[in-house]
Amino acid sequence: MAGAVLRAETAEEVAEAIGQARRQARGLEARGGATLLPRLGGAARPEPSEDADVLTLDGLSGVVDHPAADLTVTVRAGTPVAELASALAEAGQECPIEPLAGADGAPLGSTVGGRVSAALAGPRQLGAGRVRDWVLRVRYVTGEGRVAHAGGATVKDVTGYDLCRLLTGSWGTLAVLTEVTLKLRPRPPARAWYRTTRPPSAWWATLHDPAAIVTDAVGTSVLLEGHPDDVAEQADAAGLEESTPPTPPTGARAVVAPSRTDELVAAISELDCAWAAEPALGLVHLAGDATALEQARAQAERLDGRLLRLDGDAQAPVFGHDPGPDPYAGPLREALDPDAVLAPWRWSR
Ligand SMILES: Cc1cc2nc3c(=O)[nH]c(=O)nc-3n(C[C@H](O)[C@H](O)[C@H](O)COP(=O)(O)OP(=O)(O)OC[C@H]3O[C@@H](n4cnc5c(N)ncnc54)[C@H](O)[C@@H]3O)c2cc1C
Repeated sequence: MAGAVLRAETAEEVAEAIGQARRQARGLEARGGATLLPRLGGAARPEPSEDADVLTLDGLSGVVDHPAADLTVTVRAGTPVAELASALAEAGQECPIEPLAGADGAPLGSTVGGRVSAALAGPRQLGAGRVRDWVLRVRYVTGEGRVAHAGGATVKDVTGYDLCRLLTGSWGTLAVLTEVTLKLRPRPPARAWYRTTRPPSAWWATLHDPAAIVTDAVGTSVLLEGHPDDVAEQADAAGLEESTPPTPPTGARAVVAPSRTDELVAAISELDCAWAAEPALGLVHLAGDATALEQARAQAERLDGRLLRLDGDAQAPVFGHDPGPDPYAGPLREALDPDAVLAPWRWSR
């Protein structure tokens, strides 16, 4: 049977689509803004196929509740991140899942569900924290077709296992998210990027809580935010020059323990790669040809890290080599998605 693109506007419709996939022994790939798809290689590409359908969630969109005084918001998972950001901006608030721009500067159409599934915050992750720190509650449908929720709508409302954190970064493999409640914070009154070519040891200690630090082969970009006077004073003390935001390469993304970023950068500097690093996060953004990116992957894996290929090479393993059966993840997938319906292309069990 040829693959179909199914559409769900409610959690119940998601459950129905999953139930149908189970009965027909077919795979099902949740799709948000589909901004990951063009970046993936052919072999791993989650298009409708002979044995799998796509479930698009663009109809499951919109803000459900935004009690601004509580600094929380509940949105349907298919809500574009840009739409959420502008609704929050009207209330002078924000969350770290920020709109992202593509290489051409045009905004990406990624959705809240897609970004939580990829655990992808935005350039201010250093100051704001990781996606999992901001997800208070999720509503989801498991691979068994069970509609459920985890977490609580208020900050101190959670007991039991923290399934919100488990589902954050699970890439649609355990459940389809239908609704997400996020913690918010007030927008800082001032925010600006600065740049310097001086070594970090010359200015690092003078900064208080920078929102982002991005180093490359030439220098360092720093994002400061807070009260305007405080931002200006810190930049002055550190000898930073105001600048445009950096544009890290987007061909791949390697992650290691933050303490090993320098080692990874040293190894990558020897390769034919463009790179920019966020040292405090253990993150290195890369671009290069297939050989260079696979060499970079080998270096990341040597340092117990991973590399995600986002360059659309049809032959490339996107997430790296299949780690094989995993004593922790395997049983979890068995419990939540026993028939391996969700994201069937991702990993073997
Ligand atoms: C220039 C550029 C740079 C990028 N940089 C990065 C990067 O650094 N790191 C990175 O990870 N990605 C990156 N991406 C890819 C992509 O933007 C992100 O992965 C984003 O999170 C995808 O969001 P989306 O809504 O478009 O999801 P989609 O592309 O539709 O789906 C992405 C994944 O999330 C799952 N998913 C989507 N919605 C749900 C849901 N409601 N419930 C369960 N699973 C769901 C899908 O099954 C799929 O596995 C980049 C893309 C571009 C164009």
